Amino acid sequence: MSLKPIETHYNGYRFRSRLEARWAVFFDSLNIKYQYESEGFDLDNGIWYLPDFYLPDLNRWIEIKPTENISDEDSIKLLKFHMLVNHGGEGRFCVLVGEPNIGKYKTLYEPSSKWGICPICNRIDLMSNMGYVGMGNIYLERAYCVWCDCLDKNVSETKTGAFFKGTVVAKEGNSIFEHRKLTNAYTKAVSARFEHGETPKSSKHGLFDFVVKKPIKKPEDSLFDF
Ligand SMILES: [Zn+2]
Repeated sequence: MSLKPIETHYNGYRFRSRLEARWAVFFDSLNIKYQYESEGFDLDNGIWYLPDFYLPDLNRWIEIKPTENISDEDSIKLLKFHMLVNHGGEGRFCVLVGEPNIGKYKTLYEPSSKWGICPICNRIDLMSNMGYVGMGNIYLERAYCVWCDCLDKNVSETKTGAFFKGTVVAKEGNSIFEHRKLTNAYTKAVSARFEHGETPKSSKHGLFDFVVKKPIKKPEDSLFDF
């Protein structure tokens, strides 16, 4: 017997799993545009790979996995695609492992990265967590923003903001990784209900108009609800 994730209809897409749909809810609530399974790639020798998400504004490909227990066959595909994309200057690729919630997911191929809001350019993207910097008796988060590559290397560390190329420091009173926008998006993503008959959650922006094309069978138990 093999365990098959439940196909989930949301936002006009038919996701292969609840977990993927939850990540879609997360992206939607942050206004991050995505395409789902938009393009497959021939990785060489007839090996095909179809990434889960493409985020056009961030030029980022994303694969979603429920656990780090990834088959050898898949691992080879993911590594090949990572090499082609990242090393070929085609954009960025990473694997998000786990549910869209604070402290509950890992980022493969982009270690120590989490979704963050850059205090300088305000972009929301995966940002490398660089720990904290002490400012008097307070500590501020430090992160690496790929979009702030152009920052002046000589900006003083004592000034809130940038202190060397690409490294940004949280503004006092605002978190990079646990900014309210992000915590709201995590909450929406993990609490979204997709079962037929559930009342869709609404938002000011109309982002949560769930599209249910046909009744979706309720799972027989909760094992499948990642
Ligand atoms: Zn930035």
